[in-house]
Amino acid sequence: MTYLSQIKRKNGVLAIFSWIVLLLSSCSREVEHHSGEIFAMNTLISLSIWGEDTGDMIRDCETYLYSLEDKFSVTREDSELSLLNAQDDWMTLSPELEEVLAYSLRLSEATYGYFDPTLYPVVQAWGFTTSRNQVPSPEELDSLLPLVGADLVEYRQETQEARLPTGVQMDLGAIAKGYAADTLAELLREHDISSAMLSLGGNIYALGEKIDGSSWNIGIKNPYGGGSVGSVLVKDKAVVTSGGYQRYFIHEEETYWHIIDPFSGYPAKSGLASVSIVSDSAMYGDVLSTAFFVMGLEQASTYWREHQDFEAVFICEEGDVFITEGLKDSFSLISSYTSGSLQVIPS
Ligand code: ADP
Ligand code: MG
Repeated sequence: MTYLSQIKRKNGVLAIFSWIVLLLSSCSREVEHHSGEIFAMNTLISLSIWGEDTGDMIRDCETYLYSLEDKFSVTREDSELSLLNAQDDWMTLSPELEEVLAYSLRLSEATYGYFDPTLYPVVQAWGFTTSRNQVPSPEELDSLLPLVGADLVEYRQETQEARLPTGVQMDLGAIAKGYAADTLAELLREHDISSAMLSLGGNIYALGEKIDGSSWNIGIKNPYGGGSVGSVLVKDKAVVTSGGYQRYFIHEEETYWHIIDPFSGYPAKSGLASVSIVSDSAMYGDVLSTAFFVMGLEQASTYWREHQDFEAVFICEEGDVFITEGLKDSFSLISSYTSGSLQVIPS
């Protein structure tokens, strides 16, 4: 054997040896689980992540959520949204606020105005952003409705500016948590985390699959009591729910909830108790679940047939549960749910 071929052989053995060491060390790397709970964006947020070297990820997520609150809070006077609401001059927007504002205008049109990001004057009149709930007079609501409508928002995409005419005020409460869920998931993916469960008050983002490779089982809450009506199996999807049971008050035996019909100014009564959307984007699901709660089952089914880029679970006030066809194999009612039957909406 020549000297040269001896070196080549030695190098070959060395390369194989170091490759095995690398493989063994990567096999023995532990998958860590970290979780955290914070109160931000006016809701309890819980985060659960699995991965290698997750380090300070939970803390990074929390810092990020607080930074979004600085932009989207409608109640904090110093938030970016409050600054926009307080003036009638053109204002340059942060990329985050611009993205949500532009999307909310587009989707308001797509949902025939049932989702409306300019409901803040009406929401305030009902006291939903404070703890002083009240029933406004019909006259007061009539005087506020002319200030409501996405077409009143002036937006210049080229310069990232927006302007709200005097009295017009935006409330992004029905979309901001969805945006937060989507961008948190993006942040985690950038850090090679491929398994996480993010829950932002009715906005669930099930990132990737469970570490054993199985699907996440997401419960759909029973709007009329504790527990759930059933659950849906998903991988890498958002499951976003809007319901009258989430925030409401009772006055003279009448229940008033926080999802408003933008055409009347009153809490929406469409016969639905809750709507859950299963989609790739939580922001899309957040908008649709609110819009559908207002428009009702029939019009929402038509929207689904026309778009087919999401699935939905509708729980009617009488208890029946309707699912879109794509959930036929992944949704199941729990056996103890006897308040209504399960029906599939065909495409
Ligand atoms: P939650 O924020 O409780 O998860 P939603 O996503 O349905 O529920 O958002 C409801 C909030 O959005 C209300 O508290 C109010 O601030 C605002 N809102 C109410 N009705 C509408 C509507 N039709 N379109 C857009 N935003 C709405
Ligand atoms: Mg919503």
